[in-house]
Order: sequence, then C-alpha cells, then structure tokens
Amino acid sequence: MAASGKLGTFRLPPLPTIREIIKLYQLRAAKQLSQNFLLDLRLTDKIVRKAGNLTDVYVYEVGPGPGGITRSILNADIAELLVVEKDTRFIPGLQMLSDAAPGKLRIVHGDVLTFKIEKAFPEHLKRKWEDDPPNVHIIGNLPFSVSTPLIIKWLEKMSLQDGPFAYGRTPMTLTFQKEVAERLVATTGSKQRSRLSIMAQYLCNVEHLFTIPGKAFVPKPEVSVCLCVSVSELFLNLFKQRKWMHQCLQMLFPEARRLESTGKLLQLADIDPTLRPIHLSLTHFKSLCDVYRKMCDEDPQLLTYNFREELKQKKHKSRSQEDRGSASPR
Ligand code: SAM
Repeated sequence: MAASGKLGTFRLPPLPTIREIIKLYQLRAAKQLSQNFLLDLRLTDKIVRKAGNLTDVYVYEVGPGPGGITRSILNADIAELLVVEKDTRFIPGLQMLSDAAPGKLRIVHGDVLTFKIEKAFPEHLKRKWEDDPPNVHIIGNLPFSVSTPLIIKWLEKMSLQDGPFAYGRTPMTLTFQKEVAERLVATTGSKQRSRLSIMAQYLCNVEHLFTIPGKAFVPKPEVSVCLCVSVSELFLNLFKQRKWMHQCLQMLFPEARRLESTGKLLQLADIDPTLRPIHLSLTHFKSLCDVYRKMCDEDPQLLTYNFREELKQKKHKSRSQEDRGSASPR
C-alpha cells in the first residue's frame, strides 16, 4: 500500500508525553491483556503514514491503550476516530486526548471481539463491494492474545461482507506477532503456508510493511512484531495433516466410498494426489472448494459427515460385538 508521506492540517496541542501519561495514571502493563506499549511518536506516525492518506477517513482503532497510535491518527486530518479499549484504566488518558481534539475522538469501553463496528459509523459511508474502498480504515497494534481469533473472525466477516466489511472493502493496517505475520503472507511451498495464509490471501491483498523492533515496546515483548495490511473446515482438515493430498482429503467422505470420492474430487479439481497442502496455489484451493461444493450439492449428507463420529461409532460397534461374543456360552 502506498504511503502518503504527509500528516494532516489538524495538530493536537502540546500534551504530556505517553511516558508521562503512563506515570500519571499508573498504567502498569497487564500481561493477561497482552499490553506492550509504543511510546515513540515517530514510530506511531510511521505506522499511520503506512495506512495511506487518511484525510476525511473514519478510523477504527483497536486497543488504543495509552494512546500513542491514537495521537498519530488524530494528527492525520481524519473525519473521526473511534477507539475500543477493554481496560478501563486507559479511559481517562484517552479522555484527555478527546478534549484536545474536540469532536474527533469517540471512546468505547468494550471488547473488539464483540463490538459491532458495522453500526458505529454513518450509513452513507457504505459502498458496494465492487466499488472503491470506503472512507473507513481499521488500525491497531493488536493485543497478541486476541490477534489470531480477531483476524479469523474478520476474514469470515469479509467473506460475508459483514462487520467492518459492511462498509465495503475496508482496508486494515495491523500489527501481528512475527509468526502470525509470516503465515499471513506465506507463499506457495513455504514452510509457514497454513490455513491462515489461504484464508487471508483468498480474501484480501496482504502486504508485510515493516518489522517493529522488540525494543520499541514497553515492556519489550517476548516475540517480534510485524505490521501488515491487508470454507474453513476443508482448509482445517488439510493443514492439520500436512500429508499427501489424497490422504488429507479422505476424511471428507464416508468410509464406504472414501477412495472413489477422494479420487473424483482430486481428478475434477485437477490436483496431483501426491502434492502436500503447502504446495497448493490459490487456484488449486479455489477449484478444490468449487468441486467439493458441487459434490455437497449433489449429496447434502456430505456437509454433515463427520469422520471422527464415524470412527467412534465403528469402535463402539466392534466393542459391543466383542462383548456379545464373550458373553455367549462356549
Ligand atoms: N495501541 C497501544 C500501543 O500501541 O501502545 C496499546 C497496544 S497493547 C499491545 C494492546 C491494547 O489492547 C491494550 O491497551 C489492551 O488493554 C487492549 N486490549 C486487549 N484486549 C482487548 C480486547 N479484547 N478489546 C479491546 N482492547 C483490548
């Protein structure tokens, strides 16, 4: 994504530094909320610049904490900034920012995992999916403990054009811990290629912008952090196994016709049965999904078929037969 390189015309008045705010409100980082703060405003400005031109944009920031990124967003000439923060201790410091930027900052004490952003911004911002991206942007130095569930939830919302994507193709500029970022951008054949890579790359353009050094955070996290922009059961089965394709896919079909149906799926999707899931391209995944979907349309029972359930019943049956055998008179 291109960076504009310029911050806007509105500037916050002189304020206590983030370090002073932390001291003033005694904001000791809470480990259970994955709190690692960015105190250097040159770095938070860089993150916000990487989000592109935010002039007149409605921004949603997840987990603002003591407000470093929040300040940089407010200086970017935005239309409005809505922040959702779970920890009440940060609210007074954020309120100070709100007073310094009248009418610009809306503070919600809540949980990003349940907050309904689709209702928070004006309706007129909503665009058709095919149109240009809306004047809405999501930014966040995500709490590590919620970053993976949150991105999976948002990818699902994206496929339904719901949640943050009820406004259209809403861009996101987010930090992830290094391993998650590597999975998000992993290309075909790379060791990090996973269900997350496929879901993310199938639905959006993911870009690794830069790596934030651990020393930029207070306290320093145990993991490195990257800044990124941006059908499930089938993918889950594949990446749980990491075997050859014909072995991975067998679990989708009842035992009685397992070999035949797996062969048909691979043949119609034009996939070599001896490939491993990490070697599949997005086109492979698309044809796999299309063919599997057609097979489910022809036989809707496939949709509810559960491999583990069949195995359990089989074990149960053979145990009952054994019990009956041992109970019968010799
Ligand atoms: N944005 C700040 C910064 O860069 O300095 C703080 C980042 S810190 C890694 C993550 C922030 O997210 C914390 O302020 C934490 O309280 C908040 N947080 C954690 N879980 C949350 C949740 N489920 N909903 C909203 N905020 C959450």
